[in-house]
Amino acid sequence: MNKYQASIAQLLDAGAGADQWADWHWQLRHSIDTVELFEKVLGITFSDAARSILEKTVERFPLSITPYYASLIDREHYKEDPVFKQAFPMPQELRVQEYDMEDPLTEDADSPVPGITHRYPDRVLFHVSNVCSMYCRHCTRKRKVGDVDSIPTKEVLRRGVEYIRSTPAVRDVLLSGGDPFLLHTEYLQWLLDEISAIPHVEIIRIGTRTPVVLPSRVTDELVDMLRQYHPLWINVHFNHPKEMTAEAAAAVAKLADAGFPLGNQSVLLAGVNDSVAVMRRLCHILVQHRIRPYYVYQCDLSEGLAHFRTPVGKGIEIMESLIGHTSGLCVPTYVIDAPGGGGKIPVLPNYILSWSSNKVVLRNYEGVITTYQEPERYQVTRSDEPWDEAVDKVHEMTPIGVEKLLSDEDEAISLVPENTDRIGRRNGNGQD
Ligand SMILES: *Cc1c(COP(=O)(O)O)cnc(C)c1O
Ligand code: SF4
Repeated sequence: MNKYQASIAQLLDAGAGADQWADWHWQLRHSIDTVELFEKVLGITFSDAARSILEKTVERFPLSITPYYASLIDREHYKEDPVFKQAFPMPQELRVQEYDMEDPLTEDADSPVPGITHRYPDRVLFHVSNVCSMYCRHCTRKRKVGDVDSIPTKEVLRRGVEYIRSTPAVRDVLLSGGDPFLLHTEYLQWLLDEISAIPHVEIIRIGTRTPVVLPSRVTDELVDMLRQYHPLWINVHFNHPKEMTAEAAAAVAKLADAGFPLGNQSVLLAGVNDSVAVMRRLCHILVQHRIRPYYVYQCDLSEGLAHFRTPVGKGIEIMESLIGHTSGLCVPTYVIDAPGGGGKIPVLPNYILSWSSNKVVLRNYEGVITTYQEPERYQVTRSDEPWDEAVDKVHEMTPIGVEKLLSDEDEAISLVPENTDRIGRRNGNGQD
């Protein structure tokens, strides 16, 4: 606890000291959830007009910042501070743009039972919590998190577990939210017990932002509980190098020491991390702390995020400056989560320049243009020869998409969108 943190603790709770500061329950109880309190903590005063519009923003999208995360804000230059920008409402959030959507990823449409999004063949997203310790202003679910009407009840979670149990194709379950680490440890344990007992579930993943915004939540008790559910993968959400404080590093180290493979998902945010230098530094710091950069998301089309969006070109520029320039371990996959529910689409600079029947022409990160001579003889392996029939039977993965076109078993020769006029005319003529 530094001096500034001590002064914030005092301000929020007279008499509170290092012990309280290190107690995650205290942090949650004293989260900064009004504009007025925020002004006090930062020692700033907004004009009445500014405060009133900020309060309107908070009515629409809740405000909550842990005292710990607030203490990372540089008070002198708060307006440019990446922590401030992620945590504090902006009047622009109220400006809904033409392309904004309430549920751009159509999670609701891909939801067979409440709480479950089943979009990909072999894995599901399970929204097990509706609360976060800090409400990120860039949250894709900012309409839902913090909304008391969408707190998943135990009954909802039971039905989610039941869906997974009755869907043998699911081999990977991602617990998400809200933040699963905000559930009581015993409650989370109950859920992990239920899910891990399902024979076809091979791995469980948890996505949490607590190491970044509430590192004290990563208690020994929590880690000891989680350790019983290996293979358990944990994804964290760092967006800026300055978030890797001594406290965050200690929380991450506990998780890594307990054997959880750690990944990081960042969101590309205008004014926060939309620079090659910041992203490269972030990726280097993550790897130093045993966290593999996993995804960088293009900021999606949820309402109230317009001021955070960058052009896709910015993301490609960042990837261009990472790939080859730094360790492959430090290079995340840059993805656009397709509006309309198409899922994550990876986006990369182009490396293949051209192709002939026996040569591929490629370029590397330095601009070297090179050729790869294709093999003269190649014994074709059929694309869908089973490797282990017993496993394939449980997780039958019938080829879909372009994979289907490439398949040697499938006779499809084209993929055709269903809702074109051309297809409509065909159906109308009864010549389907
Ligand atoms: C991101 C996501 C997943 C997991 O995707 P991976 O690429 O396997 O990490 C699963 N379901 C949904 C709905 C998702 O958005
Ligand atoms: S931690 Fe995740 S779910 Fe919670 S507000 Fe931030 S982005 Fe949204």
